[in-house]
Amino acid sequence: MGLFDLKDRVAFITGGNGGIGLGMAKGLAAAGAAIAIAGRNQQKAEAALADLAASGARCEFVKLDILQEASCKQAIDDVARRFGGLDILVNNAGTSIRKPPQELTAEEWHRVMDTNLTAAFLCSQAAYPHMLARGGGKIINIGSMMSIFAISYAAPYSASKGGIVQMARALAVAWAKDNIQVNTILPGWIDTDLTRSAREQVPGLNEKVLARTPAQRWGAPEDFAGIAVFLASRASDFVTGAAIPVDGGYSVQS
Ligand code: NDP
Repeated sequence: MGLFDLKDRVAFITGGNGGIGLGMAKGLAAAGAAIAIAGRNQQKAEAALADLAASGARCEFVKLDILQEASCKQAIDDVARRFGGLDILVNNAGTSIRKPPQELTAEEWHRVMDTNLTAAFLCSQAAYPHMLARGGGKIINIGSMMSIFAISYAAPYSASKGGIVQMARALAVAWAKDNIQVNTILPGWIDTDLTRSAREQVPGLNEKVLARTPAQRWGAPEDFAGIAVFLASRASDFVTGAAIPVDGGYSVQS
């Protein structure tokens, strides 16, 4: 079996029906994994499945609102049963509410924290017994530049994305003995639905991103295919608890 080969592996990707999640799903499917993409939006999912069909891999949509806590475990158990196991979990689904901190309601705070952090924990917990049964597994979380830096209009987003790095480290330490590796990808500024709305809401954002990113461009969802395959394959078996920027150099620019 090749170092990056994912044949006979099963991956569950939250928010795999669009954006960065779909970019990673395409990489994993091309490497041979069977894919379950989980999200709320059926229409986006149908377009994503059509896109993924080219890989020839088994790809299915699982309708899931990760804010419904019990649904995360149900969906993961169901995929493991139907696909014959689970090897790879990608905690990618995320959201942001852009407001000054003094204007946020408690409900808005919880919605962002629960989507970006609590659901990632609950999905990881649900995946654990299935990975144990396979003799190991890979959990890939999605952080952000806001895992390192901060932004004035995104307090819960920054808190959740800082928290996911620490959560990954704690899970990595707990589950290394079970041959489960847990890592976090820190994307720079990527052109997706999430940031398209940010560009509309935040004046000058496009220019600021281009000026600060040494690669002089926004990232694309396809930029995440390679790192996803690396972190999902045996090529990364001794990599755990890491937070890896995929940012065109944004985080090392002074
Ligand atoms: P998108 O808005 O394209 O993707 C977000 C995904 O999350 C959607 O597919 C959405 O699915 C899913 N999602 C959101 N809430 C829920 C929910 N309650 N239940 C199930 N699925 C949900 O944005 P991106 O691709 O940019 O974001 C993906 C991840 O990358 C997020 O964690 C984001 O924070 C992170 N990120 C993005 C950056 C960027 O520049 N774009 C930078 C740094 C991090 P559906 O539509 O079906 O609800």
